[in-house]
Parts: sequence; structure tokens; C-alpha cells
Amino acid sequence: MSSTNWNFGLISTSEFGDLETEYLTKVMKKKRVYRYTPGPVDASEAFKLEQLYANLLGVNHCLAVSSGTSALVTALIAAKIGPGDEVIVPAYTSIATPSAVALAGAVPVIAEIDDTLTLDPKKFEAAITPHTKAVITVHMRGVPCQMDEILRIARKYDLLVIEDVAQANGGSYRGQPLGSIGDVGCFSFGQHKIVTAGEGGLVATDNQEIHLRASAYHDHTFVDWGPNREHTYEKFASQNYRLSEVHAAIALAQSQRLQSLVSRFQNIKKDIVERIRDIEGITLQRIPDPAGDTSYSLVFFMPDSDLATRFTELLGQEGIPCLTMRDHYPSGLPDRHVYTNWHFILNKLGTSAATPWNSENYDGNVSYSARMCPVTLDLLNRGVSIPLHQDMTVGHCNDLVRAVRKVAAKLAGR
Ligand SMILES: *Cc1c(COP(=O)(O)O)cnc(C)c1O
Repeated sequence: MSSTNWNFGLISTSEFGDLETEYLTKVMKKKRVYRYTPGPVDASEAFKLEQLYANLLGVNHCLAVSSGTSALVTALIAAKIGPGDEVIVPAYTSIATPSAVALAGAVPVIAEIDDTLTLDPKKFEAAITPHTKAVITVHMRGVPCQMDEILRIARKYDLLVIEDVAQANGGSYRGQPLGSIGDVGCFSFGQHKIVTAGEGGLVATDNQEIHLRASAYHDHTFVDWGPNREHTYEKFASQNYRLSEVHAAIALAQSQRLQSLVSRFQNIKKDIVERIRDIEGITLQRIPDPAGDTSYSLVFFMPDSDLATRFTELLGQEGIPCLTMRDHYPSGLPDRHVYTNWHFILNKLGTSAATPWNSENYDGNVSYSARMCPVTLDLLNRGVSIPLHQDMTVGHCNDLVRAVRKVAAKLAGR
């Protein structure tokens, strides 16, 4: 039985401290909660947040927005993706990813994941049709996707690559920060992410045209957002997806410590993986670039789903918090990260009678079913997921390793 206390808070809010309070207080004292006025546009917290991410990612343009979902919708609209177009998404991601595609008026096409729990490049290529305009590749659970393969295929078919970095802020792939590798990177500062401000998001790109259209779309096509104010371009129906200064201040304080937070996770996971990788009967999730894994999630696969259930039960009895990865949580609630629970997509429902699927612009014939991605379901059914936390001590790691070894031995009858 574990001797350590595993009642950690959320990864993100555990980091809240004096700096967040200081920055929030500054916003209150300035009496400026709106990013554009009063005072110079570049004196806002939102602007500082954008600068910080532009530096971290090494990209030309970052735009703060109100959520990860609005970042995705903004990126799609900015790239002129809409009715008639198909966008490929993995079968395992937040429901926000396919939703954003449908909200932009385009048709999401669902493709299998592989043993990295991210988009399978071969299945991505197989899902491409003459209608495909983009792929949204998702760095799920902080793990970088196979970006080299995905980019190579996307370039071959001239597709836009959008990285959904909502779950992997601070990660990298072969030395390049996630969100800076494809054409556009979309971040979230929601409650369950690595950095949270309660709500918030960010669109990162080197593409000036996409950045200008994104800036316009997120703010009623107003042009009061900075040095490009003179820029003239078409007006189109648009949103208020602006980030408030209150949220920007919190996100800024946390993001300044992002790299040290991710290093803490990486040290913890590396230590644990070294000590469990030889265990027979468990297969660790394949990580495309372990050095770039944000490392807050430890996943391994069992030979079958019954053994995965037994493993989590026994590990739980050892005091180690863990979960199976089925499409329903043990409480019975559906896990909306699994495509089987994206009912409105599977049933081709939009926000009204007019849908992306029945648009007269669309002459593709995508079809969906709950059984369309058997590999994805098999992997998730066999998965055991152990959430890690940055405050884990050597004692926690020792307890975790001991418990995993003990349960594996017991299930193997050793
Ligand atoms: C959370 C999440 C989103 C949406 O972000 P919000 O800020 O909640 O709108 C999009 N994609 C993935 C993979 C997510 O985990």
C-alpha cells in the first residue's frame, strides 16, 4: 500500500501563487480589463502574453483568444476553410476539435490513432479525398504527434496543418516547440490544461495572411489591434473571441514558468519509465519524441481489456490513482474525447437544419459509425492511464513503481 498522499490538485491551479495575484492586482489598479483601451494597445496583458508565446515558439504572430475552441474556429476561418471542405481529425481528441470544424461550416473526417494515441499518419493519408483542405493533428495528453510524417503527407497533398496544442503547451518535437511546426498552432488556457487562466486560448502562426484574418475574425473585423491598423481587407461576419485582461494576466504569470513546470514533469516521468520499461506484460505508449513529451501522463497497454480493468483495480487498491481509457468513465459518464461519443457528428447535425453535410457546396460523401475506428477503440480499451503531478516526490515515484511491478507480477501469476 502506498505510504504517500496522492491528493494533488490540478496540474495548472497547483501553480497559482504570488505572481498571479500581483498581475491580477495590477489589472485592477490600472482599471483596464479590456485589451485595447484605455492606453496604448501594446501595454495590455494580452499583448504581453502574445509576445511571450511568440518568443517561446519562435513564430511571427500570436493572437490571444477566449478559449481553445475559439482558437480552432478562428484558425479555420482565417485559413478560409468552410462549407464544401473536409478537415481530417483523429478519433481520439476533445470533442472541441471536430466541433470547431463543423462550426466553421466544414465536414470533419475521423481517422484512426495508433499506439502513440495520436493521429496515425497512414490512416491520415488514407482519409484524404479531393475535398480535404486541412488536418488538425492533436498532441493528446501532452504527447507530440508524428509531425515529420504528417507534414510530409500534408505537403504532398497541399493541405493546411493545424496543430491542436490544447493538451501539450510547453512540449516539443525534435527540438521544435509544439504549435510552431504546422501552419497554425491552437492553444487553450482552460481549467484542465497545463497553463490555465480559467478560460483562454491562443493562435500561433508564421503566416501573415492567416494572422490578419484571425485578428479580424476574433474582434468583429475591427482593426484596432495594433501596428497593422492601416491594413485594409475584406469585412466578413465575425466574432468577439477577445481575451480579457483578467484572464491574460493569469495566463501570463503562469506561462512565464511554463518551461520549469514541464521540466519537473519530464524528470518525474523519465525516472518512472526507466524503472518500469522492462516489465513483461505491459506495453508502454509509444512516444514519438520522448524529450518533447510534456510528461504529465503515463499510459501503458495490457494484452486485453479485462486485464486493463484488473490492472487499474489492483493499482487503485495499492493507493495509486489511475483510470482505464474506455469511452465511458467508471461513473458511467461518456468520455467525449472518444469519437463514439461525438453524437452530433456521427449523426451529421449542425447548429440548425442547415449543416456542413447538407450544404450545397459539399459534394463529398463522408460516413460515420460507432465502429469505424476499431484500432482506436482497441487501444483505449487496453489502456491504463496514470496521471502524474509535478509535486510528486521520490517517495511517490518509488511507491508508483513498486505498485506497478507488484500488480504486473500478480496478474502474470508470478
Ligand atoms: C480542451 C481542449 C480543446 C478546447 O479548449 P477550450 O479552451 O476548452 O475551448 C481543444 N482541443 C483539445 C485537444 C482539448 O483538450
